[in-house]
Amino acid sequence: MINTIKLSADFRRSFLREVLVPLVAILALTYIGAGTGLFVGTSLTNSEARQQQQQMIEASFSQSLSEHLRQLNSLSRWGPLEQHLISSNSVGWMDENVGQWLYEMFGHQLILVLNPQNQLVRVWREGQPLAAPERDPLVDEVLQNPLVSAPARQDNADYARLMGRAAALAVGNIQRESRDLPGFRLVSLKFLDDGYLASLAERNQLQGLHFSDGSSQPGTDARYLLIAQAGEAVGYLNWVPARPGAQMLRTIGPSTGLSVLAISLLCLYMVRRLWTSSMSLSQSMLRLGASEAQAQHLAFHDVLTGLPNRALVEDRLTQALALATRHQQRVALLLIDLDRFKTINDTHGHHAGDELIIAVAQRLSRIVRASDTVGRLGGDEFIVVMPEVDNIGQVQSLAQRIVEQLSQPFTLSGSEVWSGASIGLALAPKDGVDRQELMRKADIALYEAKNGGRGRYRQFERAMDESVRTRQIVAADLRAALQNGEGLEVWYQPLMDIGGQQMMGIEALLRWHHPTRGPIAPGEFIPIAEETGLIIPLGEWVLAEACATQQRFPELLVAVNVSPVQFRASGFVERTLALVRQHGGDPTRLELEITEGVLIDDEREARAIIVALREAGFRIALDDFGTGYSSLNYLSTFPVDKIKIDRSFTQSLGVAENSVAIIESVVKLGHAMGLMVTAEGVETAGQMSALANAGCNQLQGYLFSQAVPADQLAALMKPALAERGRQG
Ligand code: C2E
Ligand code: CA
Ligand code: CA
Repeated sequence: MINTIKLSADFRRSFLREVLVPLVAILALTYIGAGTGLFVGTSLTNSEARQQQQQMIEASFSQSLSEHLRQLNSLSRWGPLEQHLISSNSVGWMDENVGQWLYEMFGHQLILVLNPQNQLVRVWREGQPLAAPERDPLVDEVLQNPLVSAPARQDNADYARLMGRAAALAVGNIQRESRDLPGFRLVSLKFLDDGYLASLAERNQLQGLHFSDGSSQPGTDARYLLIAQAGEAVGYLNWVPARPGAQMLRTIGPSTGLSVLAISLLCLYMVRRLWTSSMSLSQSMLRLGASEAQAQHLAFHDVLTGLPNRALVEDRLTQALALATRHQQRVALLLIDLDRFKTINDTHGHHAGDELIIAVAQRLSRIVRASDTVGRLGGDEFIVVMPEVDNIGQVQSLAQRIVEQLSQPFTLSGSEVWSGASIGLALAPKDGVDRQELMRKADIALYEAKNGGRGRYRQFERAMDESVRTRQIVAADLRAALQNGEGLEVWYQPLMDIGGQQMMGIEALLRWHHPTRGPIAPGEFIPIAEETGLIIPLGEWVLAEACATQQRFPELLVAVNVSPVQFRASGFVERTLALVRQHGGDPTRLELEITEGVLIDDEREARAIIVALREAGFRIALDDFGTGYSSLNYLSTFPVDKIKIDRSFTQSLGVAENSVAIIESVVKLGHAMGLMVTAEGVETAGQMSALANAGCNQLQGYLFSQAVPADQLAALMKPALAERGRQG
């Protein structure tokens, strides 16, 4: 959750930085560029159009001025005019052909005829002669105008401001015969009034054309100052300038605005889409990352304890070894195996077993250094990798601490249980620099620790390795012997009555004559057969042999040793019974010898098997009684038929002080339970009589016979029979 929040903040920031800001910048630049272009283009077009209009107006004005002069000249340069000027009876003609004609023909509103002294000769206003022109203010102003009053007497035309109105004024010398003398002049005025402006506007398609003195809205309208030749301002010519740019803007404006809006909306939509899709992408990437991390964790950690699993520990060990080689350091490897895990699991349930594993993991994690790695290899096997070991004492004290800590009780679901652990220890580089080699050697040391009685640690020694190698060879040879039936034999040792005279039964004992090593003692190869599982076919073979022998000596009880491995194998009862039937054996005359070892691992199950075997008719003997850790009282609670006092007790007779007392109490206990008591390892007559005094029921030992092949049994039985015969 925190991650998601952090992600979205990060994501928001980077999205803003990498997508939104550049996009907005691009859009803004595009709009600004386009807007500026449009604006500049518009105003440029506008001002160009305005300039064009102004030029047009200027041209029209100068053209109309010259036209005005030309119109005047068409009369002033007309020869008959001078004649009529001089002649006094030509007034009517003059009125008709000058004043009236110019007004009607060209719209000249004021016509003056001046004599060479610049005095008024005749004046017409709008085609009509003026009666008293001297008093007319307009005439007066015209005479004051520099164009008229100037001494230079040339044809000329100009604009002027007269009576507050703009006007075109023209002066023309009237054609005459002698050119040396100053002659008459014709002056004409035409107001640039509304009519004039209207036709000008119409011709040039100008809007709102009008004159002003300059004070009227200079900002909005275009204007042009009309100046007379002398420099006098005649007036401003104002008009509403054409704005083709603005027009263009009006035309394309709405569509441009719409497309800007559309583009902006499209961008907004795209940004939204991009946002949601990249958001979901980054979220799914986060989820992917998380599940990847989870998978990574699962791949390298034990689910139950959370400790590194085999793969990770092996990896760490490899690294530590590589580092140690480079820096000439030592690495220690501790393999830890719980001693009573299976029993706890079976008696308290799998849940308790899991709890135990978790508790062990916690204790281990507390004990080790931070630089050490504690891992679980599976089941009840743990591992500790100690890199950078300074001295072996460090490792030994850790191993000892682990043994002590794990021998403390655990509280599982409210009840206290004791587990204990065995540890195998190997050191690099002494025991190997290779991971697999080191693991193998720690495993051998662990095996030795367990074999040596559990609840302890053992450090690897070279001799262990050799014994392991030997064991491997022996196992292979044993397998071969079992397959081809060569070198294996079952011999039998008699079980005598307490007087040592009567053979009550025989114990089947396995003999192996190795093809190259010669005879190998069962004490050596039986444990190997147990480790490798070979004991199961081997035991079945012995049982089959025993059945055959029993058929030869029906009066004898035949005892067969059963290994804990066989006993615990599933279906043991059924298989044993089937085998005995198959080989014609009689279960009631067969005694199965079991040891304490089968009882401690799972008491309930062991009891059930014993009961089942006895129900099938088999007799059960508790072998090597007194050698284990369990109390005699405890052992006597199992429903067996016989206890066999271990030969170490027999052999302590006369050596250890209280040996007789011990044997006596065992016998008493056995008898109290209704059991037979047999003593093993009887070698001397003294031992025999002591055991007889103690109350034993049967004896077995070299005093009577060693184990012999079945063929020799008959001979051994004879003296007993002879004895019986002698007594009978
Ligand atoms: P165990 O069941 O206690 O067998 C008795 C062992 O004591 C035999 O050793 C026997 O030869 C030896 N023994 C008998 N009398 C004397 C004596 O007076 N003095 C001394 N010092 N020893 C005596 P063995 O045959 O070497 O067998 C050793 C162990 O191997 C047996 O101990 C038994 O646990 C195991 N074993 C032998 N055969 C089999 C078998 O077929 N199946 C299984 N599962 N275990 C077997
Ligand atoms: Ca035995
Ligand atoms: Ca025994």
